[in-house]
Amino acid sequence: MDKLQKYVKLLVNTGVGLKAGQKLVINCPVDLAYFGRLAMKEAYDAGAAEVLILWNDEISGRIHYLNAPDDAFGHEIEWIKARVKYLVDEGYCLLNVYATDPENLKGVNPERVQKQQKVNQMMSKPLSDKVTSSEVQWNLASVPTPSWAKKVFPNAKNEEEAIDLMWEAIYAACRVDDATDPVDNWKAHVDSLQGKANKLMELNFKSLHFKNSYGTDLITELPAGHVWVACGEKAKTGNNFIANIPTEEVFTAPHREGVHGIVYGTKPLVYMGDVIDEFWVKFEKGKVVEYGAKKNEHLLKSLLELHKNADYLGEVALVPYNSPISQSGILWYNTLYDENASCHLAFGRGYNYCLAGTDDKTEDELNEMGLNQSLTHEDFMVGSPCLEIIGTTQDGKEIAVFTKGDWAI
Ligand code: ZN
Ligand code: ZN
Repeated sequence: MDKLQKYVKLLVNTGVGLKAGQKLVINCPVDLAYFGRLAMKEAYDAGAAEVLILWNDEISGRIHYLNAPDDAFGHEIEWIKARVKYLVDEGYCLLNVYATDPENLKGVNPERVQKQQKVNQMMSKPLSDKVTSSEVQWNLASVPTPSWAKKVFPNAKNEEEAIDLMWEAIYAACRVDDATDPVDNWKAHVDSLQGKANKLMELNFKSLHFKNSYGTDLITELPAGHVWVACGEKAKTGNNFIANIPTEEVFTAPHREGVHGIVYGTKPLVYMGDVIDEFWVKFEKGKVVEYGAKKNEHLLKSLLELHKNADYLGEVALVPYNSPISQSGILWYNTLYDENASCHLAFGRGYNYCLAGTDDKTEDELNEMGLNQSLTHEDFMVGSPCLEIIGTTQDGKEIAVFTKGDWAI
């Protein structure tokens, strides 16, 4: 079996965890039609009851942003809402093929994008609620597109070479090679990450203290009942799935009002088709009180102001500096990859499964419990080879969790 076939099989069977009789919807860029078709065939081979493909096209999205009249933005579209409702009601599993041109929205009026993204997030909320609470099985993975590959490998001779380089980088990061079975590789990888999560659950830290030579000096308190999550979750369907391929992270939710100090971004943050770089954020009682960026500070401002509670944190994730993705040394311009190269935090929403006892709670109650509620979730990278993380236990003992950017437990 060639690597492409192994990769597709990995995403459908191990990623989505699709079982015979289940329905699957594939979100796929129209430029990657071959990949959507391969995934569809793989799903039927796995016994899928029905497979739908939703083709998307960011280039027509760009044309819309640049040319549509003002009142074409910011209103809900009933048939899209009906489609979301149908997928939720019918219990579809989800495969998201995520491949965007990092510069697609460059030069587009950010107010239009903000307005539209807010409405898109509102319209898809019934489905994103199922996703963030792991009720459905889902997987997010990437496939090279010409524009993305050329951005990541600007020195490639031509488009074809850039795509080949990109595929090899993706295979390496996703533990897909000629000699081994990636399904076995992922079993071992999941076990190792879950081992770290179990250890962190045993230690039951009260807070984590992040420090590095960039100037980061940040304490994140962890709410009572916080849950450390590694890949290999069980959905409410009873089946295991891996939400992201690749993944290297073990993560939980910080207490929304328990973040204090300053943190420096260590990698550019790709946002709205552009890059926020060399930025820092200062927190008091969980809320952003000051921030700055050498590049595109106005985008950081819009990120923090776009949605309610985007200026609080919803995720703290530990990723060793020595992960294969980090060692590739590539800036991927793709959050799925970049976030797995580095410890990260996320502005906005915390995941329900990162806190015990969240079932049937309202948004206000979740906020009260310390789990931040917001329409957005935006990761930013804070890991470095010099990162030290000290955990403080409930009885005040200090234990090194990371030294020199890597696991110490
Ligand atoms: Zn994460
Ligand atoms: Zn995240």
